[in-house]
This record gives sequence, structure tokens and C-alpha cells, in this order.
Amino acid sequence: MTDTIFGKIIAGEIPAELIYEDEHCIAINDIAPQAPVHVLVIPRQGIARLVDAGPGDQALLGHLLLAAGKVAEQLGVQDAFRLIINNGEGAGQTVFHLHLHIIAGREFAEGHM
Ligand code: C5P
Repeated sequence: MTDTIFGKIIAGEIPAELIYEDEHCIAINDIAPQAPVHVLVIPRQGIARLVDAGPGDQALLGHLLLAAGKVAEQLGVQDAFRLIINNGEGAGQTVFHLHLHIIAGREFAEGHM
């Protein structure tokens, strides 16, 4: 577990509306959405950054991608969504508990991030 807002949500110390959950992860709506659909997929296991994951986390990382796909389907955006992981402060990471952003419901210009 991490001593972050996401670690506290997972520990049940801070209430949050889960839009998806399974044995290994949860998904919540982002509090400051950058698009009509902006969901965070968060592993229950506390890994601070993507680069802090190791070979033993391979199955978990795969699980997070599959879960993101399921959440996208659940939200009806399976044909047009983007997944983002901010790794490190320099990339804009503000919560140091690994999470995937699912972004959808806006135009995605070809060739642009
Ligand atoms: O990738 P990064 O660390 O910047 O993303 C953290 C995300 O967590 C932000 O999009 C922020 O809006 C979201 N957040 C949240 N609920 C909180 C604190 C942050 O949804 N209580």
C-alpha cells in the first residue's frame, strides 16, 4: 500500500465511488476530468511509479490493461479511448501510486497525443 490518496481509498479509509473493482484493482472517476470520460484504474497493490514495477508484477500489469479494456466496454467507449500512465513528476505524475488514465469522449486528432 502507498501513503497516498489512492492507497487510502483502497484501504477504505477514504470513501470513493468505485465504478469497477476486482481482486487486483479498482476504477474511479477522476475528480478533475480532462475529458467527458476520465477514469483511473488503480492496482490494489501499491507500486509508486511504473518504473518501480518489476518482473514479479508482470501479471498485475497485464491485468490492469485487461481491466482498462473491460471498464472501457462497461462505459461504452471501447472503440475510442486512450490510456495514459504518467511516470514521474517530470511527466506530471502527482499521485505516487501507479494508475492508468482512461480518456474518452473527446476528439482524438490523428498523430497527436
Ligand atoms: O497521473 P497523475 O498522478 O497526474 O494523476 C493523478 C490524478 O488523480 C489526477 O488526474 C487527479 O485529478 C486525480 N485525483 C483524483 N482524486 C483525488 C486526487 C487526485 O481523482 N482525490
